[in-house]
Amino acid sequence: MSSTTPAAGSHPRSVPAPSALPDYARIPQAALGPALNAQGYYVGRVEKNLYWVTDGTYQSAFLTTSDGVVLLDAPPTIGHNIQRAVDEIAAANGVSNTVKYLIYSHHHADHAGASSLFDKNVVRIGHEETRRLLIRDNDPARPAPEEIFQDRRTLNIDGNRIELAWQGSNHSPDNIYIHLPDHDTLMLVDIVNAGWAPVYICNLTEDVQGYLGAPAKALAYRWQHFIGGHLGRLGTRDDVTLHQQYMADIDASVRKTLPTIDPAPYFQRYGENAWAGVKGYLDACTDAAAAPVIEKYTGVLAAADVFTASTTFWVMESIRLDLGYASWVHP
Ligand SMILES: [Zn+2]
Repeated sequence: MSSTTPAAGSHPRSVPAPSALPDYARIPQAALGPALNAQGYYVGRVEKNLYWVTDGTYQSAFLTTSDGVVLLDAPPTIGHNIQRAVDEIAAANGVSNTVKYLIYSHHHADHAGASSLFDKNVVRIGHEETRRLLIRDNDPARPAPEEIFQDRRTLNIDGNRIELAWQGSNHSPDNIYIHLPDHDTLMLVDIVNAGWAPVYICNLTEDVQGYLGAPAKALAYRWQHFIGGHLGRLGTRDDVTLHQQYMADIDASVRKTLPTIDPAPYFQRYGENAWAGVKGYLDACTDAAAAPVIEKYTGVLAAADVFTASTTFWVMESIRLDLGYASWVHP
């Protein structure tokens, strides 16, 4: 999820007039969060000394402790507003505003790209694969974590327990579960967007089967508050369950649809252009499988009509390629 702004003096390519862009269903009011302040952020208490910050699209969170602030992710879209939010809360409560620890949920720049804004003495903590990927990708905005773990690590910072766990790849190979048992909270980023459909291809997921299994792993923890990393409000257990049902409906629709669509007409139509035949066939499968899911979830999950087809395509490819469903062997 990113936007590009043409450099000054460049000539932007012509784009359709806004009036020519498609209309979509209205966003359910329940998908939206609190209003942002004049600086473009909202900061609120999750529970006790745990707070969350949003710019309406991305989320970060932090704990205030007598040993300094523990920051959970540093999305660049929130950027300098992270420290402003920390300052606001610290001043109101008379506690330190110094960010001493930064925990990475995973290595992606859209959740970690403000890391370098924080003092070089901050202790960065993350999964060992997060460290490996950040060293490989060599982005100065995202220093690699020095404190790493393999499967599980429990931090106790001034009496605040933070349980980090890696339970296999999902959205990315390194995405972790961050459980705060004393704050009744789970942070799991880029899996469930509370109130909203996932964006392109299951929230740009690398391992679809891991992605599909992640909500059950999340629900196995005890918590009431869910920090999903995206959009403008916190989540609930019901949000995670609804997402799980949506993905299960996509999965079931793909399995039901795939055997019913004959690829032959698409390949006959395009002859030696094999890729055009593939596109015609897979697009037809995607559209047929997505249609009933879009109908069921429009008005239930925001933007179901915007992104369900893309996510359906990705689930379909995983069902075909990872699971071998409906695969064909030459006689
Ligand atoms: Zn990500």
